[in-house]
Amino acid sequence: MSQRITFTLAATDGRARTGTISTPRGEIRTPAFMPVGTAGTVKAMLPESVRATGADILLGNTYHLMLRPTAERIARLGGLHRFMNWERPILTDSGGFQVMSLASLRKMSEEGVTFSSHIDGSKHKLTPERSMEIQRLLGSDIVMAFDECPALPATEAEVAASMRLSMRWAQRSRDAFGDRPGHALFGIMQGGVTKDLRAESAEALNAIGFDGYAVGGLAVGEGQEAMFGVLDYAPGFLPEDRPRYLMGVGKPDDIVGAVERGIDMMDCVLPSRSGRTGQAWTRRGQVNIKNARHMDDPRPLDEHCSCPACRSYSRAYLHHVFRAGEMISGMLLTWHNLHYFQELMQGLREAIAAGRLAEFVRDFHALRAEGDIEPI
Ligand SMILES: [Zn+2]
Repeated sequence: MSQRITFTLAATDGRARTGTISTPRGEIRTPAFMPVGTAGTVKAMLPESVRATGADILLGNTYHLMLRPTAERIARLGGLHRFMNWERPILTDSGGFQVMSLASLRKMSEEGVTFSSHIDGSKHKLTPERSMEIQRLLGSDIVMAFDECPALPATEAEVAASMRLSMRWAQRSRDAFGDRPGHALFGIMQGGVTKDLRAESAEALNAIGFDGYAVGGLAVGEGQEAMFGVLDYAPGFLPEDRPRYLMGVGKPDDIVGAVERGIDMMDCVLPSRSGRTGQAWTRRGQVNIKNARHMDDPRPLDEHCSCPACRSYSRAYLHHVFRAGEMISGMLLTWHNLHYFQELMQGLREAIAAGRLAEFVRDFHALRAEGDIEPI
């Protein structure tokens, strides 16, 4: 197996692409959806079950892991893969976004950001250099450059200043990362919803040179139309021969729209988080298992789904265990949701390879428009 991480495009259909990222820890089929294992676990799932849904790669969160149990402790225990019992590829974020959304008493400077832990109030500092060190200690296969995502709403001048700071941090991240065969470093494009700023950011990243490129600063509340507006041009600013990663996306229709626009990788807590709140995602859209209409329904969530929740349990049971607050509720719905998201990715990959993505997307929207099956 190659010691370098490589990206091979197998087919394109319009702007959509399908291919393979090869890493020493295994192949990642693209477009790929990465389940989120925030604190060293995809909540309510065993790693082998996550794999069984079809996931090739997980995302881990630098911010959470640096605070608890700490990157140094994970390194002493053999790295994140061994620690969480997931031997396949792991991508870690840089910690920057979550510092902005979770930590208190943040103080930004050219150097980096100091903050207080949301767990115990302890003081910490994240810089590009420290973020690279933490992600190395974790043993992450795909490392993200340290960046800043400006809080919305922000003026164009604020977005521009933030993007330029992120580009200086991207260079520092590249320098601190060094040469690590078998590990990849991705740069992150910023620039909000302004085309010129996106172009400037992409140019800065291309000049530094990364193994892959993320489109950052989206899925932060700007709405799908604005997000697709940026994705109509932004991926085109990035090198064709490197994977493109859209961070924090998304709902199934966001994923489909992003893939149509040339995105290769995505991540989101949605399937696992929804699973714990009684929300299921199916080919026919969203199902709220809390709803009383399911109380006497012996049918599965989705008769065409082969996940354990749909194969062996009724809507009535799923409704009951949610109402009763039983742990199996979150376990079964999370499994179903992750299975559905991975099945969607497989469908997209096959459609792109066969040159029939437009037809696939038409069917995807048509079935969702029909909505859930009629109540009993
Ligand atoms: Zn299912």
